[in-house]
Amino acid sequence: MEFMNNKIVIVGAGMVGSATLSALINLSLVSEIVLIDMNQEKAEGEVLDVSHTTSFTYSPNIQIKAGTYADCKDAHIIVITAGPSIADANESRMSLAVQNVNIIKNIMSSITAYTREAIIIIVTNPLDIVTYAAQKLSGYPLHKIIGTGTLLDTARFRRILGKKYGIDAKNVHGYILGEHGETAFATWSLVDIAGMPLEVFNAVMDTQVALDCSQVLNETKGIGFDIVGKKGYTNYGIAGSVQRLAKAILLNEKSILPVSTVLNGEYGLRDIALSIPCIISNRGIERTVPVILSEDELAQLIYSADHLNSILQELQLK
Ligand code: NAD
Repeated sequence: MEFMNNKIVIVGAGMVGSATLSALINLSLVSEIVLIDMNQEKAEGEVLDVSHTTSFTYSPNIQIKAGTYADCKDAHIIVITAGPSIADANESRMSLAVQNVNIIKNIMSSITAYTREAIIIIVTNPLDIVTYAAQKLSGYPLHKIIGTGTLLDTARFRRILGKKYGIDAKNVHGYILGEHGETAFATWSLVDIAGMPLEVFNAVMDTQVALDCSQVLNETKGIGFDIVGKKGYTNYGIAGSVQRLAKAILLNEKSILPVSTVLNGEYGLRDIALSIPCIISNRGIERTVPVILSEDELAQLIYSADHLNSILQELQLK
């Protein structure tokens, strides 16, 4: 009997790539991790840094190296974190989009020289534009490209609500959907704690939590900016989100998670990438889950799609 080795390649060894490397090591489900960066020294430095604690109890003794795209050949998962973030407030989102679409184009052609089997997790921003470009410019199987999308936004949303009600965020359900960015919206019609809408939970528990929905959404969307304002970049939250996705893939969990994917008729939308709940398995996106949205939420989803479409047109990707 042969045992399966799980191999992950991470492209991009910056703030996010290095935190992702650490999160994936700690997942203890992976036997080999390869880090690729255009700055080979940086990748080598990150690998050296994480490689020398294997004598510690609970430290998995896995193979970690700085590598090349040839390492994608037998990879199960490839995580793409390469490319810059917005450097300062003066830099436009469009100029970042132009740069990172070019970067993803090159990376996808390097990856597809070796594989069309691996499941690709996209982290690079602007997330939905880069996810769309990755699929469109390479023709890579649609269900094998997963944009982290609103997974992290949703985690933040659930934590904020959990704190307000004094409940573990794991028991709060609901999603942030649409664009990973300014037009993201909350699916208030689906929010529940222990299967009960918030007002019913309030009544049953005799609590008086008064929610200001737009304040909760603004707080959710503002966390990334707050972190960047204080430490200059974000990395641990997104690394934890990649770790969550990798676990769902490696264990074939069939977890329902909100991620960015190129839609194919869901909500009447196609040929656009944005986040809706999806079943994540060892095939990648097993199925999309087009949850029932209120009229207002559906309008917000369409608005998000229109907004992303106009950017794709400006970038001449459509
Ligand atoms: P960073 O500048 O620290 O690192 C980027 C790395 O990419 C650098 O090491 C650089 O050498 C490398 N790189 C650039 N072009 C490359 C190429 N063609 N091939 C290989 N490597 C290349 O940036 P970061 O803080 O790590 O952020 C990385 C990306 O992740 C950004 O686009 C950022 O906006 C995005 N991000 C997304 C989320 C999310 O929620 N989706 C959260 C945080 C950051």
